[in-house]
Amino acid sequence: MRSSNSDRNLSHDQPRRTFLETTSAIVAAAFAAGRAAAQEGQQVRSADRDRNASDPGPENGLVREANPNTFLPPATDHGEVPAFWNSFSTAHRRIQEGGWSRQITVRELPLSKDIAGVNMRLTAGGVRELHWHNAGEWALMLGGNARITAIDYQGRAFVDDVTKNDLWFFPTGVPHSIQGLGPDGCEFLLVFDDGTFSEANTSQISDWARHTPGEVLAKNWGVSENAIGGVYEQPPEGHFIFQLPVPGPLEQDRAAAAGNKPISQSKFSFRLDTMEPTFKTKSGEVRVVDMGNFPAANTISAAHVIVKPGGLRELHWHPNADEWQYYVQGKGRMTVFFNGSKARTADFNAGDVGLVPKTLGHYVENTGSEDLIFLEMFKTDRFVDLSLSDWMSHEPPELIMRHLGISEEVLRKIPKDKAVVVPA
Ligand code: MN
Ligand code: MN
Repeated sequence: MRSSNSDRNLSHDQPRRTFLETTSAIVAAAFAAGRAAAQEGQQVRSADRDRNASDPGPENGLVREANPNTFLPPATDHGEVPAFWNSFSTAHRRIQEGGWSRQITVRELPLSKDIAGVNMRLTAGGVRELHWHNAGEWALMLGGNARITAIDYQGRAFVDDVTKNDLWFFPTGVPHSIQGLGPDGCEFLLVFDDGTFSEANTSQISDWARHTPGEVLAKNWGVSENAIGGVYEQPPEGHFIFQLPVPGPLEQDRAAAAGNKPISQSKFSFRLDTMEPTFKTKSGEVRVVDMGNFPAANTISAAHVIVKPGGLRELHWHPNADEWQYYVQGKGRMTVFFNGSKARTADFNAGDVGLVPKTLGHYVENTGSEDLIFLEMFKTDRFVDLSLSDWMSHEPPELIMRHLGISEEVLRKIPKDKAVVVPA
């Protein structure tokens, strides 16, 4: 059956065949040129397309510079897709005595229904007020030092000091605080398992107390109403962030917080730097942190990805959850395949956020000259990804070759097991 087209062509008379051969030669040349242009990248293509792609009108040069794959899209991009990128660098900063915060929620990135992100800085001694919320809170320390406090579901104290690349997770409703330590406080990323989360809407201790009648508070605490006047002098909407002196040694705070109970056995913190890579190739490494190795994190799983220059986080997808990304360092680009022939490529820099809806295919390529470091975050307790190469090498070869028009020789070269970061 497959040879019937060529059989028919062979039966044509001579002049007709010559015409067809000439036409197909032109078509083939055009395809080859297009493919070469696509492969050789934007400089060649922009030269080819000088006239068509020219842009004499008004332009925000800084935004354009940061988004080369939007200004001159790869020839493979096609169709309309929802925005799957945003940046903390365009988010409002709430600056107070003691530090600042900014957030990207479903209000800024409508595609992200499951996850919201907050970027926060605390000075040495600066405190994020004691509070809790109706969302699990996962965190990555981006730099500096901080002391975190909480109580577990048994009411026992947890106090720990964290530094760059440490993580924490506070489950829904667990009250906690964060305080910057010396010499220069800290900066961290918070990831919440709810896209509608807002830092402006948490249960803060001073806010709650100040909005409870004095006679009730006095009865609750077993003290006189006169003794608690200070509660009603705190800011009307709570402190949120405020400046305090740098606290004393960790052991001292731990002992003071423990009181008459043993210290909490819940491990709300996690040292990413002490963990061996889950996947490692010559082009990079990936550390997967989920309930399997960080049991406290019962609603959020993570992959911390390092891609070396020239490397590629391979084509893959996640069957069980949306992927919310935070770019820690470097430059990268990602194409998301939205099905129905729709695909779009976007550029990412440090401080940017990406979102890949559940099951959609994507890759992330390092387009810079330093290591690309980013987080893949999921609202699920288990990290799962499926790899295109893994899929192709575990199907009947004939089936794959006929789908993609590739030879057995090419198929044999494709990585047989999930490489995660290529070249392996
Ligand atoms: Mn919190
Ligand atoms: Mn992914």
